[in-house]
Amino acid sequence: MSKITIAIDGYSSTGKSTVAKQLAKHLGYVYVDSGAMYRAVTYFAMEHGLIDENHFDVEGLLDKLSEIKVSFKFNAALGFAEVYLNGVNIEKEIRTLEVSRFVSQVATVPQVRAQLVQHQKQMGAEKGVVMDGRDIGTVVFPDAELKLFMTASAETRALRRYSELLERGDDVSFEAVLKNVEERDYIDSHRKDSPLIKAKDAIEIDNSNLSLEEQFDEIKKLVNKVLHA
Ligand code: C5P
Repeated sequence: MSKITIAIDGYSSTGKSTVAKQLAKHLGYVYVDSGAMYRAVTYFAMEHGLIDENHFDVEGLLDKLSEIKVSFKFNAALGFAEVYLNGVNIEKEIRTLEVSRFVSQVATVPQVRAQLVQHQKQMGAEKGVVMDGRDIGTVVFPDAELKLFMTASAETRALRRYSELLERGDDVSFEAVLKNVEERDYIDSHRKDSPLIKAKDAIEIDNSNLSLEEQFDEIKKLVNKVLHA
């Protein structure tokens, strides 16, 4: 059976990566977390003093953009590919609330998007890929055979992200996480370049009241429909 491309977009913490990982495993496809790539560039900017609470040196970041190499390496023990910045594993470093605070600003920069989108297109050139993000069905793979758009209430999403951060041992408050989720959603859906919008042909899945199993069953049906069309 020929392989397809699956694009999963949606607001922050809608469970896109969970379902994308499940699907990739189920189908034997490659999973690409495009958000991790924007987080990696953000982490680079933070490490080089190019962004903090008070300033964002866009020109400085653009000067260094060609030095930023983001890659993925599959970790068999974890069952997914971890993200590397210039050869260094930064999977843990990019998941902090601190990186979440700045990532949406970095993701508004068209040159950053162009560099990452080009890389994303290359990774999906052979199909057999499940990619999640904000612009996958609209910009990266407008011809994807299956497009999903995930939604859930802001509180449900913030609670999920909050539990993840607590599990990692991060010292964060629910209010701070909720504020970050709302801020990122606002910036992501209002930026000029590739704003977060539902592709016309995407299927919307509101998982506020769905268990992971129910959601996966529903999505597997959609995949089978496309595969057997
Ligand atoms: O998916 P995740 O929440 O890790 O993404 C972090 C941020 O990266 C998003 O809030 C968004 O600003 C940016 N992003 C993007 N386009 C993508 C994926 C992520 O702008 N395709």
